[in-house]
Amino acid sequence: MRVLRTVAQTRVALQSARLQDRTIGLVPTMGALHGGHLSLIDRARAECDLVVVSLFVNPTQFEENADLDRYPRQQQHDHELAATAGADLLFAPTAEEIYPDGFSTSVEVLGLTDRLEGAVRGAGHFRGVTTVVAKLLNIVAPDIAYFGQKDAQQAIVIRRMVEDLNMDVQIETCPTVRDADGLAMSSRNVRLSERERDRALAIPRALAAATAAAAGGERSADALIAAAREALRALEAEPEYVALVQADTLDPVVRLEQPTLLAIAARVGETRLIDNAILSPDSSVASSASSQPDFNSTFPASQFEKQTDPRQAKPREAQATCSA
Ligand code: AMP
Repeated sequence: MRVLRTVAQTRVALQSARLQDRTIGLVPTMGALHGGHLSLIDRARAECDLVVVSLFVNPTQFEENADLDRYPRQQQHDHELAATAGADLLFAPTAEEIYPDGFSTSVEVLGLTDRLEGAVRGAGHFRGVTTVVAKLLNIVAPDIAYFGQKDAQQAIVIRRMVEDLNMDVQIETCPTVRDADGLAMSSRNVRLSERERDRALAIPRALAAATAAAAGGERSADALIAAAREALRALEAEPEYVALVQADTLDPVVRLEQPTLLAIAARVGETRLIDNAILSPDSSVASSASSQPDFNSTFPASQFEKQTDPRQAKPREAQATCSA
């Protein structure tokens, strides 16, 4: 695996692949790699000829300097993990390379970004995300870019940006990878003390409680949200939001009538965690027997179906899901 620090090096490194018509997959990350990131790399490896992982802790998407400073960084270990997972190129630029003096452009998706994460973290968060992802897509020009369902709103916003700006890339959303006890893998989990790690289980339990209620026939959004909140309260996780929203528009729903996104953000001690599940009124979709959400469920097909792109013919045979 080659490590590239500059935009120019990256473009040169990708030139021959492009000339040979090899498909390029991009996995954007902020490092501190874990099983969730590796599942995206796996998927890219299975579908593309050349896999590029980007590693950049994007300062413009952090609303608090303290949060940016605390963000876990482990570059050398990340290099090893990315190489082992099968990345061909690691693009790990400095902040100055991405935001040189005089940088003054931003890409902003309106509407979708006011809600959930945008409402709590401020408009600047998603502006930072979309601007840096637009730059990465321009620098690497991948055929396919891979994102995680764990950051559901981010994936939805990026799809909107790609569609609105006619960007020539296919966006794939991969299922959330979890530890054995259900906690979604996150770079932020390393900040949890042992006791906080136990309390953080409130979040998958909240998703499970709402999923079980939906499987039991509950259709009222208020009641489903109350079931999730109760599970958060039981382990003293402090909710920032618990929302039941349409998975494409993020509009709140009043009744569960189709597969719908249940999104949770909660604080456990100093650590802010997010997670989500798709609730379905069709109890056969939820695993009602175990009262556990179908953690591997993906978004409704209408939102996440593959785009029809002629380059689709080129990628190697796709895996049905990312491996966990
Ligand atoms: P991050 O480094 O946190 O910005 O994440 C980089 C990519 O990995 C994003 O597309 C995330 O949605 C995805 N990701 C993070 N955690 C997980 C997880 N537990 N399962 C699947 N994808 C994930």
